[in-house]
Amino acid sequence: MVAAKVGILGGTFDPIHFGHLRPALDVAEQLTLDHIRLIPSAVPPHRAPPQATAQQRVTMLQLAIKNNDRFVVDDRELHREGPSYTVDTLMSLRQQFPESPLYLLLGTDAFVEIQTWHNWTQLIELSHIVVMQRANETLTMSDELTGWYQQHLAVDADQEQLAGAVWPVDVTQLAISATEIRENMSKGLSVKFLMPDAVINLIEMLGLYSSRS
Ligand code: ATP
Repeated sequence: MVAAKVGILGGTFDPIHFGHLRPALDVAEQLTLDHIRLIPSAVPPHRAPPQATAQQRVTMLQLAIKNNDRFVVDDRELHREGPSYTVDTLMSLRQQFPESPLYLLLGTDAFVEIQTWHNWTQLIELSHIVVMQRANETLTMSDELTGWYQQHLAVDADQEQLAGAVWPVDVTQLAISATEIRENMSKGLSVKFLMPDAVINLIEMLGLYSSRS
């Protein structure tokens, strides 16, 4: 049997929204990935701590992907001490899926910052890197990253490999951010059609992100 092709989307997911889910599904379809693992981070190394607790973020993810078997919630980073480094997560996934091509999905905003990540050059030894971009988007990268990107750019044969290539993939553009959602909620504005209704219902039930919480 051919090993499953596994996609990985890490983030704070504070909260999860359609700007995460639709582009991830676009990638799964275009690269024929068997499933995408949504991996919430415990202590994000690059940003302020999330407002929702780890358990609340996991519950929101579970509600968001209910009845959609292409997505899996993976809480491995929540069981580790210290900062959530992606390189450690990829090592753990590589052990769990030794035969599988792994695909780390990044939005362009995350990709152009990749050189600031812990042991960033190891990432591509452990998985492929998918850059979720707009059609015909020009990435603004440092000279070093531009050279690295061109050196690793995927050619068709790479899909047989377990890791090692950069895959730019055009995805549906949804200018939704968790920051905007939290701001809207704190002002009492509607967030309908920005994320699944089940997630909105839970947020309202818990009083999350409102000015009263
Ligand atoms: P925040 O506004 O709190 O920074 P966010 O909405 O950007 O959050 P994250 O959890 O930080 O969400 O993002 C996780 C991953 O999803 C990152 O790789 C990010 O680039 C990507 N991503 C987030 N929003 C979008 C979007 N609207 N379209 C494509 N990719 C996205």
